Amino acid sequence: MKKLAVYPGSFDPITNGHLDLIRRAHSVFDNLRIGVAVNPRKKTLFTPEERVELIRQTVGDAKIVVETFPDLLVQYLTRIGAKVVVRGLRAISDFDYEFQMAITNRNLNPDIETLFLMASEPYIYLSSSMVKEICYFGGDVSSMVPRYVLRAMKKKISAIRAEHL
Ligand code: ADP
Repeated sequence: MKKLAVYPGSFDPITNGHLDLIRRAHSVFDNLRIGVAVNPRKKTLFTPEERVELIRQTVGDAKIVVETFPDLLVQYLTRIGAKVVVRGLRAISDFDYEFQMAITNRNLNPDIETLFLMASEPYIYLSSSMVKEICYFGGDVSSMVPRYVLRAMKKKISAIRAEHL
């Protein structure tokens, strides 16, 4: 499919679950873009630019554009001429939020279609927030995030710890 699809999210930071979804979405859509949401009201560990860089280093495929978007998802899609949003569904707990988002986006722009990929089994309970929490307290998250991300996360967390000493 040559159609442009967008995989949007916070990616704070990208995990192996996101990565699995990117690979699978890319096997369906040749033209896949990853949009990192910029929302100053949301507290994140990494800046949007850092999150983009972590995704680029991890994905390592120049054909997949990775960029930030500071506007509403539907505005971003209209701006780049895309009509398809790809999202991941983990456990049932994701369903309500994702359903709400998909319906709201469709109400804002009826041309936009949201497609869901089920999370792969090993990643079904993997989230960026859980990874950050475990890493913050010194737990081992090496099986949950790419090595490059692990290094960046440890560095960032030790800087935060030093700040609070
Ligand atoms: P957001 O703040 O937009 O939910 P996230 O980075 O948390 O951003 O998630 C982006 C998308 O990736 C969401 O659709 C989410 O359900 C999906 N996702 C997150 N973690 C996983 C995972 N482990 N496996 C599959 N999909 C995932």
